[in-house]
Amino acid sequence: MPLTACTNTMQRTVYNEYQGGRLVAVRPYYATEITYHPNGMLKQVTHARRGEQVSAGIAERIDADPNAMGRPYRIFIGGTTTFNLRGLDGALLREVELKAGAYEWVKDYIYRDGLLLASQHRTEGHQHYHLDHLGTTRMLTNRCGERVKRYELFPYGDTISAPANDTETRRFTGHQRDLGSPTNTTDDLEYMHARYYGVKMGRLLSVDPIQETKKATRRPQSWNRYAYVIGNPVKFIDPSGAILEVAGEYNQLLFFDAVTGSMPPGAAKYLKWKDKRLMIVGISAWAFSKMYGLVGHQLAYLTSSPQVFKVEIGKSALTERFFGSGFLPGKNGGGVIGIDPARFPVNRGGVSTSFAENLVHEMAHAVGTLIPGVQDRFNGLVGAAVPKPEGYALAVENEYRRSVLGLDRPQLRCWYLIEGDLMDAGPGAEIFP
Ligand SMILES: [Zn+2]
Repeated sequence: MPLTACTNTMQRTVYNEYQGGRLVAVRPYYATEITYHPNGMLKQVTHARRGEQVSAGIAERIDADPNAMGRPYRIFIGGTTTFNLRGLDGALLREVELKAGAYEWVKDYIYRDGLLLASQHRTEGHQHYHLDHLGTTRMLTNRCGERVKRYELFPYGDTISAPANDTETRRFTGHQRDLGSPTNTTDDLEYMHARYYGVKMGRLLSVDPIQETKKATRRPQSWNRYAYVIGNPVKFIDPSGAILEVAGEYNQLLFFDAVTGSMPPGAAKYLKWKDKRLMIVGISAWAFSKMYGLVGHQLAYLTSSPQVFKVEIGKSALTERFFGSGFLPGKNGGGVIGIDPARFPVNRGGVSTSFAENLVHEMAHAVGTLIPGVQDRFNGLVGAAVPKPEGYALAVENEYRRSVLGLDRPQLRCWYLIEGDLMDAGPGAEIFP
C-alpha cells in the first residue's frame, strides 16, 4: 500500500473481501478473484481492472508440494516450470528449469549465517546481496564490487524506487517474491511459507495459523489475524508466516528448542532469554543441574560462568571446518559452539548421530574449558591427537545416549573427528567424570 511520505498515511482506501479465512478480493484497484488450491496455497490472481488473469500464460503461481510439508517447489510462468530446491530450513538453494523434458540449471543462492550472501545465475553471473537489519535486500553488486541494483522501500515492503521490470525475487526480509506478471508490480506477493503477504496492501492473504491466546490477550494488535508482524515491520520479521520472531533471534530459538527438547519436561520454565543470553531464573544453577540431568548440568555450568559462550546455529566457517559441528575456544576464555542442523542426522563409522547428540558434544567442549586439566590440553590441540578433551566430550555424549536416549553399545561412539580424520579417542571415552 503506497503511503504519503510526509504524513505516513495510506494513499488509497482499500476494501478487502474475505471468505473462509482467505483474502479473495481487493477493491477498488489492486486485484480481484484470488483463488486457492485445496491445500490453501495460492493458485491465481486475476486483475480487477482488466477483468483478466494478471498475465496470460500464468496457470499457477508458486505451488506447494504436498509431499514436502507444504514447501513450494515450482513456479509456472509462460509455459516454463521453474523448480525451487530448498534446504531443510526452507531456504531457497537452487532454481532449475524444466524445458522440453530436460532440467536446466538457472540460479544458485549462497548463504552466510542464514542470511543471503550471493547468487550465481546462468546469464547474470555472480551477484552479492547487501542486506539491512531485517534481511531485506538494499543493494546488489557484481563480482567487481560495482553497484548493479539499489532498492528503497516503504516500511511494509512496497518499493519507493527500484529498477523497472525487475526480475529479482529476493527482496523483502529475505523472502522469495512471487512476481506474477513481470511487467506489473501491483500483483507482487511475498511467499512467507505458511502464508502469502501482499506487498502493496501490507497484509497477509490468509489468517495466522497459530494464535497464542495467552499472549494475544495482552497484545490487541494480534487480534487482526491478517495483520503483518503486529504492525511493527521495522522491528519484526516473519520468517515462517506462522510464528512471530524478533530479527536475529532465530538461532536463540533453535537452540532453546534443542536443549529443552533434550531435557525432562518442566525445565523450560526456569530458562529465560535476557539480553541475548540464556539464564536460569527462579532456581539456583546447582538445584537446576541436580533436577534436570546431563543437559541441565551443561546449561548450569555454562550459564553460571562469567565467560561468554556463543551458539551459532547454521552453516558457518566453524561448521564447515569440522564437518557439521565444532567448538572454538576464545582467547580469553569462553568460546563459540557452531552447529549446522542441515548436516544431521549423519552416519559416521556405523553410528548415526543426531543434531541433539552433537549439540551435547560441543557443549561438553565448552564446559571442558571451565574444568581444570581439560582446558589446558584443549588449547594445545590444533591438528594434534590429544585424546583428553575429545575423550571428555565423547564421554558426555555417550552418557547422553545412555541416560537420556536409553542406548548402549554398539550405539556408543569411540572415535572422534579432527579435520575429517577419524581418530581413536583413547582412554576416557567411556568414562563420564
Ligand atoms: Zn569434539
